[in-house]
Amino acid sequence: MTVGAPTRPNAFRAPEWRNWSRAESVRPVRIETPSTPDAVQRAVQAAARQGLTIKAIGAGHSFTGIAVAEGVQLLLDRLSGVIAVDEASARVTLAAGTRLWQLPRLLAPYGLALQNMGDIDRQSIAGATSTGTHGTGGSFGGLATQLVGLTLVTGAGELLRISERENAELLPAARLGLGALGIIVDVTVQCVPAFTLHAVERPEPLPEVLDGYLERSAAADHFEFYWFPHTGVALTKTNTRLPADAPLRPLNPLGRWFDDEVTANGLYRGLCALAAATPAVVPRLNRAAVRLTGNREFTDASHRVFVTNRSVRFREQEYALPRAAVPEALRELGRLIERRGWRVSFPVEVRSAAADDNWLSTAYGRETGYIAVHRYYRETSPDRLEYFAEVEKIMVAAGGRPHWGKIHTRDAAYFAEAYPRFADFVAVRDRLDPERLFRNPYLDRVLG
Ligand SMILES: Cc1cc2nc3c(=O)[nH]c(=O)nc-3n(C[C@H](O)[C@H](O)[C@H](O)COP(=O)(O)OP(=O)(O)OC[C@H]3O[C@@H](n4cnc5c(N)ncnc54)[C@H](O)[C@@H]3O)c2cc1C
Repeated sequence: MTVGAPTRPNAFRAPEWRNWSRAESVRPVRIETPSTPDAVQRAVQAAARQGLTIKAIGAGHSFTGIAVAEGVQLLLDRLSGVIAVDEASARVTLAAGTRLWQLPRLLAPYGLALQNMGDIDRQSIAGATSTGTHGTGGSFGGLATQLVGLTLVTGAGELLRISERENAELLPAARLGLGALGIIVDVTVQCVPAFTLHAVERPEPLPEVLDGYLERSAAADHFEFYWFPHTGVALTKTNTRLPADAPLRPLNPLGRWFDDEVTANGLYRGLCALAAATPAVVPRLNRAAVRLTGNREFTDASHRVFVTNRSVRFREQEYALPRAAVPEALRELGRLIERRGWRVSFPVEVRSAAADDNWLSTAYGRETGYIAVHRYYRETSPDRLEYFAEVEKIMVAAGGRPHWGKIHTRDAAYFAEAYPRFADFVAVRDRLDPERLFRNPYLDRVLG
C-alpha cells in the first residue's frame, strides 16, 4: 500500500504551517515534537498504522514545497545538541534538529568549526544537508559532503545506522536524501580546526569579474559575487582562510549593525517595497545600492564571516551549472532582463563548489558554479513568475541542476537525465520507504 493524502477532517487539524518565504503552506493532521530517537520511531510506526504520511521539518527555510508535511509534521527542536565528539578525528555527532547557529557555541570547547557554510545559519543540520545546502569555494563541497555518518528511522520504523563502516553503500544517497529516505535522528559531521577568515568585499566592473570568474573561483578559498541588474557593477567577496590565532580585525559592532541591519536589511526592505510599488525606480535604486554596500575588509571567526542576517523576505531560484558555463549564462541573463524590460531589484548571486559524489548533489561529478536569482516576496507583478521561468530556460540549456530547496519546475524525467545515479537513488528509496510514508507532492514530482 502507498500512503495517500490524509483524510482527517479539518476541524481536528494542527495550525497552518508556512515556510520562510510564505509561498508554501499546509495544515498538517497533527504535529509531534519527539525528543528521542525512540519517540521518532513510535511516531513513524503510528503514522504507518493510521495510513498517514510523516515528515520532519527543519527551519522551514526551503523555498520549494519539499518540507510540506500533509500528515504528521515532526518538529525536531527537542532533538538537538551534541551527542558525541571524537576529538582525534574532529568528528562530532549532532542530534538532527540542531540549528546551524548553535554550532559555534557547541563546537568551541573542542576548537572545531564547520568547514564551510552558506549565507545564513537558521537551518537545522538535517534540513540543510538533506537539500544540498552549500556555500562558496571552488575547492569545497556543500554541507552534505561533510557528513561521515547518520542514523535514520526508515519507513519500517527501524533505526538504521549508515556510515563508512555500516551500510556504507547507502551513504552517497542518505547524506543528501531530500527527506525521502527516512527521518534522520543524528548526523556525524567531519569538522575542521576552528579558523578565521580574512574578508575583502569590493565593487568591481561586471565584465572583468565575469572574465576572471573561473580563475578567481579556483585561486581563492571562497569567492563569490553579487550583480545588481541595471548596473555594470559586481560586488565581489573574497574570503581567505587563516589559522584560528590570526589577529582579528572584526567589523566594529556599530559598523556591522549599520551595514547588516540598517543598510542590508532595514533600508533594503524599504527599497524593495518601494521598487515593488514603483518598478520604474529600480535601476536608480540598484545603482544606489551598489554605492552604499560592498566596500569593506575585515578578519573574524569563520562563522561570523560566512553568515549574514537576512531579514528581508524573498523568493529564490538557484541553478548549478558546469562551472565553465557560468560567465556566458550570466551574460545571457543580463541580455534577457534588458530585452524584456523587467525591473529587477534583487541582486543575482554567483558562487562555486567542488565536484562531489553524493548522488543527488547539484555538484555531483562536476566542478560547479551557481547562479541564484531572487525577487522580493511581496512583488505581485506578473513578470515575477516569468522572470523565474525564462531564467530557468537559460539554466536548463546550460545543463543546469536546480537547488532542491529553491524554486524550479523540473520533474523526475529531467532528473533521470541530469543525475547519473538517479535510478540508484530511487532504488534506495524503494528499499527504505516502499510504502512512501515520507512522500509529499514535491517529492512525487521530483522523484516520481
Ligand atoms: C534566507 C535564506 C538563505 C539561504 N541561503 C542558502 C545558501 O546560502 N545556500 C544554500 O544552498 N541554500 C540556502 N538556502 C536554502 C536552505 O538552506 C535550504 O532550503 C535548507 O534545506 C533549509 O533548511 P531547513 O532546516 O529550513 O529545512 P526545511 O526547509 O525545513 O526542510 C528541508 C528538507 O529537509 C527535510 N528534513 C528536515 N529535517 C529532517 C530530518 N531530521 N530527517 C529527514 N529529513 C529532514 C525536510 O523534510 C525537507 O525535505 C537559504 C534559504 C533562505 C530562506
